[in-house]
Amino acid sequence: MRYHRRHSWPLWMYREKMDKVTSLYLHVPFCESKCPYCAFSSAEKSGRDEEVYLDSIALEMALRAPDAGTLDTLYIGGGTPSVLSRDAWRAVIELLEKFFTLSSSAEVTVEANPSSLKHEHLELWRNWRVNRLSLGVQSFDDARLAFLGRIHSSHQAVKAVELSLSSGFSVSLDLMFGLPSNTPGIHEELREWAGTLRSAIELRPHHISVYQLTIEPDTPFDRLYSDSPLMSDGYVPYRYAQWFLPRLGYEQYEVASFALPGHESRHNLNYWSDDGYIGIGPSAWGCVNEVRYKNTPRLVDYAAILASGGDPITSTERLEGERVARQAAVLALRTRSGINWEKFQARYGKIFAKAIKNDLKFIPNDLISSDGFNTRLTKKGLRLGNAVWASII
Ligand code: SF4
Repeated sequence: MRYHRRHSWPLWMYREKMDKVTSLYLHVPFCESKCPYCAFSSAEKSGRDEEVYLDSIALEMALRAPDAGTLDTLYIGGGTPSVLSRDAWRAVIELLEKFFTLSSSAEVTVEANPSSLKHEHLELWRNWRVNRLSLGVQSFDDARLAFLGRIHSSHQAVKAVELSLSSGFSVSLDLMFGLPSNTPGIHEELREWAGTLRSAIELRPHHISVYQLTIEPDTPFDRLYSDSPLMSDGYVPYRYAQWFLPRLGYEQYEVASFALPGHESRHNLNYWSDDGYIGIGPSAWGCVNEVRYKNTPRLVDYAAILASGGDPITSTERLEGERVARQAAVLALRTRSGINWEKFQARYGKIFAKAIKNDLKFIPNDLISSDGFNTRLTKKGLRLGNAVWASII
């Protein structure tokens, strides 16, 4: 990927001709403890971290606010936003209110973990604009949770889901498959995965995201398992989720996402439509006026840059040409609606649309279907998405 230093593509250069952005992501860089498989930018908070974070996001919000229109979606993720104290949450809400305007029907999502979710959080969020919670459950099996280094039990997960649902939120669960099948205490991968899905369904959340455990570079799991033959390829449990969840009313609308009707994540659909979004916080990504940017990851650097009047963006990439059209095709194919050729051609041009259509002709018919207007992946195509992406990119 080709990056340009931030002074090459300052976002304000494009402001005059830009469409205002209606999605905002706010990154909270704190966790209670670091999970050994996780490569996200987060750390345990200590000392004045919370105060430094709040001062810094206030400065970045002032920088980014001119790019924002009335927000249709706001996603507060991390990290673990539920580790922020009640006072810090009050301050975050005040800042968001000060710098941005939310539409009356805005989807406002907060990520939370069962171990740090408190009644006081739910009350505060409910009394503000939060209407959707994304809970990092991962598994309802205690042995698997221990293997993953999670600090909550399955009992705590059930309680957190029940509390969130009874407080009136639209609730999404993150669940993880593809764990080793013969790690001590963890047997029969599919049986246990089916058990976790059944436990999830019994609670009746509105949305379920399923992810395969991947070994990320420079994590403790990388050192332990990178060459391990124990890791599952995830194909069978993923296929099971595709079979099981729709039977219970959860339609698959994206590679990893299943929802009851009307509970699809609007914020994520915006990402997959390749539309703009503002990212705020250490390590946050954003895409404003066809320029994708990434913030510096460490809180200490992020805070120092902003305090000295700078912009914490470390890299930008101008989105243009055939490569961008191909990336957009991959994003669209992740979703149930796939590529709508009329819209695609209008946005990326006839030549690129034709070139991508030609490449897709070589994909076997059982992986892809087309009605002349839209091209989308079949269920099998979603399972083997990587092979399809490889033929487009
Ligand atoms: S709680 Fe989530 S963000 Fe935090 S370390 Fe674990 S997986 Fe990473």
